Parts: sequence; C-alpha cells; structure tokens
Amino acid sequence: MIAKTRHIPDGKKELKKLPIIHYLDAEYVYYPVTNARCPEGETCVVGGQFVKVGEVIGTRKGAFFEQQMHATVSGEVMGYEKHVDQSGLVVDCLIVKNDKKYEVHESIRERSDAEIDTLTKQDFVNIIKDAGLVGLGGSAFPTYIKLATKDPIDVVIANGVECEPLLISDYGLMMTKPNEIIEGLIYAMKASGAKKGVIAIKKKYTEIAERLEFMKNEYSDYDIRIAKIGNHYPQGWEIETIRSAVGISIPPGKLLSKYGVLNFNVSTLSSIYQAIKFDLPVLERFITFSGEGIPNRTFRARIGTLLSSLIDLAGGYVDEDKPKVLILGGPMMGTNVTRDDIVMTHTTTSLIVKHEEPTVEEPCVRCASCVYSCPVDIKPVQIMNAYKTRNKDALKTLEVDTCIECGLCSYVCPSKIHLTEYMRLGKRLVKK
Ligand code: SF4
Ligand code: SF4
Repeated sequence: MIAKTRHIPDGKKELKKLPIIHYLDAEYVYYPVTNARCPEGETCVVGGQFVKVGEVIGTRKGAFFEQQMHATVSGEVMGYEKHVDQSGLVVDCLIVKNDKKYEVHESIRERSDAEIDTLTKQDFVNIIKDAGLVGLGGSAFPTYIKLATKDPIDVVIANGVECEPLLISDYGLMMTKPNEIIEGLIYAMKASGAKKGVIAIKKKYTEIAERLEFMKNEYSDYDIRIAKIGNHYPQGWEIETIRSAVGISIPPGKLLSKYGVLNFNVSTLSSIYQAIKFDLPVLERFITFSGEGIPNRTFRARIGTLLSSLIDLAGGYVDEDKPKVLILGGPMMGTNVTRDDIVMTHTTTSLIVKHEEPTVEEPCVRCASCVYSCPVDIKPVQIMNAYKTRNKDALKTLEVDTCIECGLCSYVCPSKIHLTEYMRLGKRLVKK
C-alpha cells in the first residue's frame, strides 16, 4: 500500500507548556572556528586575553562569504578544544572562561530610531554582516548576502511556520518577543526596499496570531499582514510557505529574489532587530530537550554553551543504561550524534533523546511510498540505487540536488531505509 503523507504528529503540545529556564552559568563557553558552511576560519585573540560580550574573536570563511565570530560572555581566552558542532562534525573550538560579569564590549551601542531612518541599504548589509548573522531556521545561510540582492523586492516573508516536529524555538520567540520579529521585518523591508511584509504562521496557532495582530497595531504605517497557512509538513519549506502565504510559485532551485520575494525565519528577523538597534550579534537561543530518554526541558542559553552542561542541569539522562539515540535538531531533518559535548551554535534548537537501538534497514519492497511523498517530486528509491552504484550521471538526471532533506521519504518507508541519508550522500557525490 502506498503511504503518502504530509501530516505527521508534531509532538509540541506538552513541550510548549515547559517553563523557560534562563541559563547563564556555564563555566566555559566554546566557539567553533569552522563549521559545515565555513571549512576555514581563524581567531584574532590569544590565550590569556580578556574578551567582552559582543567582541569579535575571529572569522569563519566559506566559499563566497565570511562570518564574524563573537564572544557571548566576558572572560579570559583559555585555548582550544575539540567538540561537536550542529552538523555533527568534531571541530576546533576557542574556549573562553566565563567570568559571569557579562561585561559588554564598547562596540555595542543603541541606535536611535532617527539614526536608523538614515541608514542606506549598504549600511544595513554592513551592520548585519558585522554581526555575523545567519539563517537561524537551520540553513545558516549568511543573512547579509540575501539582503544584498540587487533584484527589486516586493515582499519580505517572516517565516514562523516551524513545521518540523518537536521544535518550539520560533514558537517561544513569537510568544515572548513578537515586537522584535515585527521590528526586524520592518528593517528587512527597509533594507530591501520591499513595500509589503507578511508573517506566515500555522493556522492552528491562534494564540500567536492574536499576539502578532495586537502588536502589529503599533506599526500601522507599514503594510504588514499575518498569513495563517497550513499545518502540514513541510509547510515551513520556503517554497511552500511563499506559495501559501502570497500565492507566488517559485520553482525549486531558483532564487527567491528573482520573483520579488525574500524569506527570513522569524528568529533571524529578531536577530536583525538586535543587530540594527543595538549592534548585537546573536547571544542566546532557545533549546528544547525532548524524547523519553531525557527530562524534557526548554532553556534559553548563551551561544557557546555545551549541551552536556544543560543535560546535567536537567538531571542527566533517564535510564542511563538503556540504549539511546541522540538527534540534534528535529526528528525529520536532524542529525544523529554519538556524543553530547555539543556546542550550542546559532542553529541549535533541539536535542531529542530516544530509547532505541539504531534501526536495521530491510530490503526495499518497491511500494513507491517515498516517491509519492516527496514534496519536490524526485524519486528517492531510484536515487538510492544510483548512489549505491556510484552513478553520478544518473544522480544528476534524477535531480538529487533538488532534495530539501525534509526526511519524508525515510519517514514513510516501511523498510526503515534511511533514504534521506542516501540523498545527502548522493548530493555530496555529484559535487566531487
Ligand atoms: S528528503 Fe529529499 S528525497 Fe526525501 S522526501 Fe524530502 S525532498 Fe524528497
Ligand atoms: S525505498 Fe522504502 S518507501 Fe521507497 S519504494 Fe522502497 S520500500 Fe517503498
């Protein structure tokens, strides 16, 4: 029987009720010098040097962009250690001993609204670049590059759909700081020249819609509306969000800006607000622990905090001796990790701990469920077979590159085949 689905249990109801624990007490914080997008990087501080919150401590370098690294606590630079980053890689991290005084660097200052009104597009781009902002929805794509587009932009989307199960980071932000999202959206509209802004949220989030509608009244000079769109998965994928929120169909792989649209995750917009208004980099993020293998908690913690210290704070694992699977991110798109000395980075929002043995794949039964469920209309089972024979030409013909790694094919497969992993491997192979 073909299993085609876009409706998967999101498991968020109980998680949303968790109190937010603000944790600032990590003794040491760690800053990866490289990451998946930036294979090179260098620091500009030395052992024993005192650094302050917001101070530049290095630069990560990608193929066509740079990302500034900032201290998120004040304290002494101690050296380097290897830890796991968001993509599951073990990377060199700069260590800062937290003096818990949170002394702020001199470069951090508030801009008046009058000053912000005089900023040019290039000023916005430069400030956002200097703040090291990246897509906080998980893409980690540099925000300044999106905003620097020369294409005429008609509408900016604030994407608050967060369709991945068990993730509630954007939800928490929309509940607690809706003003920052709207302000960030207005700054993105000013920087891009867009006249319209649309905040896209799930239909079922009536409490969020009420909050945003109420807050929006304070910004009546701007053409901003709330679009209540589908609850299904992957409604938060930018192509689906844009189609549902503003009715513009953009073929996968095309630049959104060519269609007059920019799409930012709501947390990214909040970070744009913090950068423009206060010259601040991202200092903190929400992170949620879920699954039966760990006490379920939501923290707000500094970038650089080790998740192992948060796990200790939560009381450790449940039934320590049971076999467990650790997933960094959501159950659909997350990364399996084998150790928990994971550094909290810009895109760390969830750790799932399940009591499970790693699943054993069974042979494909040719049910075609993966094909019928794929939102970008490619053929996961054929791509897997092409990868197994290392057939690059077939992988290209089958358009492996259009895969958005949504995880639906793995989810529906009755043989428990990790198809999404084959998609990732296939993409890597065609790049070689
Ligand atoms: S992970 Fe890729 S191949 Fe699988 S359903 Fe999603 S988009 Fe399609
Ligand atoms: S890979 Fe899985 S979902 Fe796809 S055809 Fe085979 S058994 Fe069905």
